[in-house]
Order: sequence, then structure tokens, then C-alpha cells
Amino acid sequence: MKKTPIDRLLAMTTPGPNGCVIFTGHVDAKGYGRFSVNKQNARAHRVAFEQMTGPAPEGMGIVHLCHEVDQSCTGGPQCLHRRCLNPRHMVLRTRSDISRGNTKGASYVNAAKTHCPQGHPYDAANTFRAKDGARNCRTCARERGRGWRAQAKARATARQLGLRESFAALYVAQQGFVTGVVLAEVRDRNFALAEDLTAEAFIRAWKAWPKCRATTDAQVRAWLRTIARHTVIDHYRVKRNTVETATDPTAWQYANQPVEQSGGCYSVRSGRQLTPA
Ligand SMILES: [Zn+2]
Ligand SMILES: [Zn+2]
Ligand SMILES: [Zn+2]
Repeated sequence: MKKTPIDRLLAMTTPGPNGCVIFTGHVDAKGYGRFSVNKQNARAHRVAFEQMTGPAPEGMGIVHLCHEVDQSCTGGPQCLHRRCLNPRHMVLRTRSDISRGNTKGASYVNAAKTHCPQGHPYDAANTFRAKDGARNCRTCARERGRGWRAQAKARATARQLGLRESFAALYVAQQGFVTGVVLAEVRDRNFALAEDLTAEAFIRAWKAWPKCRATTDAQVRAWLRTIARHTVIDHYRVKRNTVETATDPTAWQYANQPVEQSGGCYSVRSGRQLTPA
């Protein structure tokens, strides 16, 4: 009497752990048993499953539950479960479900968990789903957010402290230099004004300090010189606008000079008289 395929299959098995029925015939590179029915070579577990429960529908794949519940199995060709023919150890699952859970049956194992790794319950109030359907713990997410915010704040504070310290050093090192630049630009060697404008220049420098890319002393001085000069220029420009434009809008060169004496042309940059009155 001719043996049925299932008889032939079962003759090529040996009992494994946890009720597995391990195929002992030819195994392919991926660790699946191979078996021929009607001159068609197929995976042994699929033949066993279909012989006992009927053909697997289109789009459905066969999954080994014995593999998914075995936390010690890392999968791959060495996985003994791939050769298991026990039909009770196999279920049909959609291909998309399988590809989603194919990291060691993660979805199957995770679905059984009632609490997050930190012990918070996976209940309706404390759970949200990620795009891939994975459950996330709200409490943990909240605490992670809190941690990130605290870290960002600490970084900002450290940066601010660093900026203040470096600027204090800059002020000590370059105050004389900036005063010299300002003094060369103000008119009449006006020391009181030079002091005010030096202070103003450092206020501007402080505001621009986070964006300052100067590294060498020469670069730092060039950067400060530009700021100091603009501070002086703006000082006289403001004066011109408020005092003189009403009477002589074209005479911007006369900035800072009383109208009745403004016969000469003055350099805005140095305040030197360029033409005689
Ligand atoms: Zn099994
Ligand atoms: Zn396995
Ligand atoms: Zn949690």
C-alpha cells in the first residue's frame, strides 16, 4: 500500500522540546526542511500544515508559534522551530503581519505584555499606538520629554554661562583697545563721550557675541573695531537727524555742529574738519 505524504513526512521526524516535531530530512540554507510531494519540492512544515488543515489562502503565511514564544531562540537558520511540523505549533498570518513581526516574533511576544518595561500599565489611558501599531507608554513618553527638556535647558544655561565668562574676559582684555578706537573717532577728544560710547560699543558687542566667529586676537579686534566705529557713527547720525535735518537736510557732514557755526565740512568718522568754515 502506497504511503500518504503525511505518513512519509512523519516518518522523517523526531520529537523536539516543548512538543515540537522536528523534521530530520533535507534542510535548506535558511534552516527549513525540504520535502517533495507530487514531484514538487516545498518547505516541509508547509506541506505538513496544508496536508492536515488544507491549503494556505493567498497572501497568508505560516508562522511557527513555538518559535515566537521561545524567548531564547534568536532565529535564523539555526532555529530548530523552522523544522517543526507540529500543526498545533503553526498558525496562518497575513504577510504584512509577518513582516511587521519578523524580528523574533516581536508583535506576538509584545502583545502578551500588560506593562511597559518600567512597569506602567498598558491600559487605555496610558497607551498610545505608534505608526507601526506598536504600543507606547504615555507615562514613559512624558518622562522622556521631561528629561529632554531638562537636558536642553541645562545645555542652554551652560552655554549662557560660557558666553558670559568669555565675554568678561574679552572685556578685560579689549577695553583699552575699544576705548582707543572710540577716542580716535569722537570729536574734540571728548573723553566723557568716549567712555559712554565705549560702554555702548560693549553692549552691542555682547548682543552680537553669540554669533561672533573671530578666533584670533587680530580677528577679535577687527570685529570690535567695526562695532566701535559704528557706535560712534550712529551716535553722530542720531544727533544729526534730531538736531539738524530740519534746518539743513543736505548738510549731513555738519553733524554735531551747531547750525550757526557749521560753515566747515566735518568727517563723520573722525570728526576732523575737512574744509574751512
Ligand atoms: Zn514546534
Ligand atoms: Zn526558533
Ligand atoms: Zn512606562
